[in-house]
Amino acid sequence: MGSIAIDAAVVEGAGNPFRFEKLAMDAPGPGQIRVRLHACGICHTDMVMRDGALPIPFPVILGHEGAGVVDAVGPGVDGVAPGDHVLLSFHSCGACSACHDHQPGYCAEFVPRNFLGVTPPGQGGIWRGDERIGGNIFGQSSFATHALAHSDNVVRIDRDLPLDILAPLGCGVQTGAGTVLETLQVQPGQSIAILGAGAVGLSALMAAVIAGAGRIAVIDRHASRLALARELGATETGDDLAALDGQFDHIADTTGVPALLGLAVDRLAQRGTLALVGAYPPGGFTIDPSSIMSMGRRIVGVVEGGIDPQLFIPRLITYYREGRLPLEKLIKRYAFADLEAAFAASESGAVIKPVVLMPQD
Ligand SMILES: [Zn+2]
Ligand SMILES: [Zn+2]
Repeated sequence: MGSIAIDAAVVEGAGNPFRFEKLAMDAPGPGQIRVRLHACGICHTDMVMRDGALPIPFPVILGHEGAGVVDAVGPGVDGVAPGDHVLLSFHSCGACSACHDHQPGYCAEFVPRNFLGVTPPGQGGIWRGDERIGGNIFGQSSFATHALAHSDNVVRIDRDLPLDILAPLGCGVQTGAGTVLETLQVQPGQSIAILGAGAVGLSALMAAVIAGAGRIAVIDRHASRLALARELGATETGDDLAALDGQFDHIADTTGVPALLGLAVDRLAQRGTLALVGAYPPGGFTIDPSSIMSMGRRIVGVVEGGIDPQLFIPRLITYYREGRLPLEKLIKRYAFADLEAAFAASESGAVIKPVVLMPQD
């Protein structure tokens, strides 16, 4: 197998716009899977990476909620074959203690494999002439017509399922739903407050409804998002946690705003847990240790929901088929060529989950 020509949206340097280019993609190497992409969701982390706030290799191809059809597989790949429909998720080593515990979000190699896009010698890459492009972000780089993914971050799905609607399962949706169902393990009748009604927060909300939570409060600055939250099952909404009464068994912060966390701790019930799910800037917030100790409260960090995509994505698909995960209410489709507009709609808050569709010839 030789290399193929692909179309990709390249970001040349931090803060630069997308530029559509024809590039060359190597044949899949050992453990690699070439996917013909049909769709990719836009995640907040793509914006953080484009702005240069994470140590990614420019020039780079972003995009880490890819969905498509397997096109070719490299040596040593079993479990998927050309023609299989797949969702792409984050990349992990498969060999460290976290990976063995089905917690690949805490993989010892999470940063090099997802942000640095490091590939072992012998694996295929993406080229502009003889310049290698950063083409392995989250083990996929899916703002392109094709991706070179890996055995661990490809999840096979049934062919009747809609790739465009399900693409965001691989990051944003599993992060919110996994936080509620796996990390917090919300129980029937318990209360939860969700800070932020973006894709992660609304996925947490849908999961809280699935878990049978009693009181489900959602906090956001955008009235339109709060209206959608009520439609999805929030029992109360508001623009400030301070305006709500009482305490919560669980609070999930998806905003990444440290200034909100002090109040969140105060609003935890006895033995309540605060989940930190946002992309936090450097810095911190002040807590009174005795308020944690005397109430038996917990604070837990969450990466990608604290789940194993190979196990959790099939479970989310079951909920989707049952109508309990109405993702179509969150997404808006854009042509791949309109990626910049899709990004802008996400950054402004106008669209909760833009999904770009790659041309199929
Ligand atoms: Zn690992
Ligand atoms: Zn993401």
